[in-house]
Amino acid sequence: MAWKKYADLHGAPVLAKKFYEAGTVPINYSAWPLEQPATQYAALKADIDTDVVVIGAGLAGSSVALHLAERGIATVLLEGDQPGAGASGRNAGHIQPYLSSLEPLQNFAGGGRKFLNYFTSNRNIIVDLCQKYSIAADVHQPGMIDAAKKPSAELENKAKFWQAQGYKIDIIGAETLQSMLGTDLYQYGLLWHEGGQVNPYLFTNGMASVALNLGAQVYGDSPVMACEPVGSNWRVRTANGSVTASQVVICTSGHKGNAFFPELQNTHYPLVACGMATRPLPAELLASINPSRSVFTQYPTGLFPIVIDERNRLITATIPGMYSAQNAEKYFAYFLRYLHRTFPITRNANITLESYWTGMTANSSHHYDKCYPKLYQVAKGVYGLMNFGSWGNLQGPMMGMSLAHAIADGRVDDCVLPIERPQAVRFPSLFETKIRRTLIPIARIADHFNLA
Ligand SMILES: Cc1cc2nc3c(=O)[nH]c(=O)nc-3n(C[C@H](O)[C@H](O)[C@H](O)COP(=O)(O)OP(=O)(O)OC[C@H]3O[C@@H](n4cnc5c(N)ncnc54)[C@H](O)[C@@H]3O)c2cc1C
Repeated sequence: MAWKKYADLHGAPVLAKKFYEAGTVPINYSAWPLEQPATQYAALKADIDTDVVVIGAGLAGSSVALHLAERGIATVLLEGDQPGAGASGRNAGHIQPYLSSLEPLQNFAGGGRKFLNYFTSNRNIIVDLCQKYSIAADVHQPGMIDAAKKPSAELENKAKFWQAQGYKIDIIGAETLQSMLGTDLYQYGLLWHEGGQVNPYLFTNGMASVALNLGAQVYGDSPVMACEPVGSNWRVRTANGSVTASQVVICTSGHKGNAFFPELQNTHYPLVACGMATRPLPAELLASINPSRSVFTQYPTGLFPIVIDERNRLITATIPGMYSAQNAEKYFAYFLRYLHRTFPITRNANITLESYWTGMTANSSHHYDKCYPKLYQVAKGVYGLMNFGSWGNLQGPMMGMSLAHAIADGRVDDCVLPIERPQAVRFPSLFETKIRRTLIPIARIADHFNLA
């Protein structure tokens, strides 16, 4: 596949706007794939049998396959492209160790205590999996900072709640923020010691490859076209083969590819996001911008969450305006303006764009903070695990593990997510319109004029 970093795009055929709006630019436009492509999995070209077939090798599906294989369950993982080609391989790399809102838990049995316990007990799953299976995915826990321009009762309450769950969180003031982030713009913040960063493309591929090593069969370039009942089993068909299994787990997220169960297609609110990576920055400059190399995000706007990767690049993501997702220059200019305001030293630095890409998130709620993943029962033996919204790095592997263990134990209802019937959301595009047209532009203005 052609290797297209942003720099190569000048003079190269520009991708049509529709790919940016749909979040389907090729994965190699994203910052994360290495020059050497990850393992390429061959397409399925036979009719085979297994216990469980998992469709979609993103963070969720790869984790389901890994954890099923770990339990000795015969598993086939089918990916329409290659692992990590969807949102998972192109996200911003933040590991947010907490839940943005607890409100949705009120609808879970027992007030969601089981979910919360599982979430807190497994909040280090990415680091744990990388260590256990030697997955090289540039995973670090340098701490994650929510940085605010003024004290915030909401942040303080959040800290208290999660400290009570056993989290190590410091409430930090201007001096610590200055020494950690290198800017005096922020006066108050939370330092989540277990927050971190990961190369999500390498991590997703790492999980798929562990699944393979543990005995699962993994096929790439195998979009599933149909899923039909055969006696008490299901036959999942691709262009050149089929898999017959007693259970099917669909982890295709909001992709149009899941037309074989159309009721899953409109269960989410889509929202496109764009990602950007600078060219590597000199160590001296990085020692001024964020010397602690913490993962950091601005409270309350969260406009430009920033990660510094192993190549010393700043990696960030934002939400583009309506119909302009292809406009790399515009969003990079916004990012630079933010950097210049926050770190005056960057005004004289040569910071240039290396990669620009977009991706699609599938959100279960039209309130940004209330997006929890969903577990759907589509038919007997057919489950959908999807709609991870903007925070799938942690919850994808975690919920994948919970579902895999529940399946292995023969008790799907043991999964920490409630089992629901797929239900189409009303006005799916309203969320995107609200965020792209109104909320983000307002947040940009508020941030610019120091109002937030
Ligand atoms: C720009 C951006 C920034 C983000 N930043 C962060 C962040 O910093 N931290 C964080 O935690 N989360 C972040 N997210 C969200 C996170 O990436 C997602 O929540 C997560 O990747 C969802 O994982 P998934 O496995 O459900 O879906 P996906 O990764 O989209 O996987 C679905 C897979 O299914 C495959 N597929 C589709 N149809 C078929 C078919 N018919 N047959 C076979 N395969 C099929 C696709 O090719 C794809 O590989 C971000 C997302 C974006 C787009």
